[in-house]
Amino acid sequence: HFDVSKPWLNRVIERSEKLSLKAVDGVSFSIRRGETVALVGESGCGKSTVARLVVGLYGLTRGSLVFDGEDISDLAQRTGRQAASLRKRFQMIFQDPYASLNPLWRVGTIIGEPLRFFRPEMSSADRRRRVGELLEQVGMSPMDALRYPHEFSGGQRQRISIARALSNEPEFMICDEPTSALDVSVQAQILNLMRDLQDEYGLTYLFISHDMAVVKHMSDRIAVMYLGRIAEIAPSDQLFGNPHHPYSKMLLAAVPSLEGVGKERTMIQGEVPNPVHPPSGCAFHPRCPHANARCKAEVPLLIARDDGSEVACHGVEEGRIE
Ligand code: SF4
Ligand code: MG
Repeated sequence: HFDVSKPWLNRVIERSEKLSLKAVDGVSFSIRRGETVALVGESGCGKSTVARLVVGLYGLTRGSLVFDGEDISDLAQRTGRQAASLRKRFQMIFQDPYASLNPLWRVGTIIGEPLRFFRPEMSSADRRRRVGELLEQVGMSPMDALRYPHEFSGGQRQRISIARALSNEPEFMICDEPTSALDVSVQAQILNLMRDLQDEYGLTYLFISHDMAVVKHMSDRIAVMYLGRIAEIAPSDQLFGNPHHPYSKMLLAAVPSLEGVGKERTMIQGEVPNPVHPPSGCAFHPRCPHANARCKAEVPLLIARDDGSEVACHGVEEGRIE
């Protein structure tokens, strides 16, 4: 039922005066079926806000959200059976799996809960079998169903939350820093698992991260966010090979070797301005070596380039910057 040729998540635009700390604006992108799009940027840039808008945890105050051809901009306000069956097509995976796993429930109950809700007709024997399969799919044992979350390591808990997310056979997974709380070696295992599951089930990922090294490993396309806006969006190879936006260049220049993966770093020099009162014009201008008068006055919009990237920068548009 997907129209693969057509971008199905067409446009995400949000503007919020009330939640100005979390405001994002002019964020517009599409994700195709089976693709991984990463949102990267420093903390406070609005990437988690975009994730929560997409799954309807926050409401849009302006703009629209289109999923599989349907306008679902009002998802946050929708209730009832139909809304539930729409929501089950998206699943969100969070940074801290422990916080999202009920400590009083056995793992089998946790993974089986969405099945009990969405497929009440399923017998408990079938459900147990399905939970066992899901545990195997994420590299665990069906016997683990009998244990409790605290008996597992961080990486195994993330596997449990992935199994739970998979139980509804979702099409679209929104992953908010899913590995940044894990050790480097465990991170790689979880990322590999996520890629294998994507291949097997044709999953689509929106992958949120502050870590360029992780994002390089995972994504087809990357959207670089700065203070609530997309600075540049491009195919992953294109962005790593030839970034255009001065902020993308700074982020990439600060990408560490693999042993640094996962550690929150001071990535680039200069303060991140207060997102409540972003600088005028291009919000990056106080940190940009190429800023001029136009940059201070006028917000740059995303402009498509011949190489497949879209860049929001006056300097790039004017040809002052490569
Ligand atoms: Fe720098 Fe101006 Fe481009 Fe902003 S618009 S990144 S200030 S050159
Ligand atoms: Mg975040």
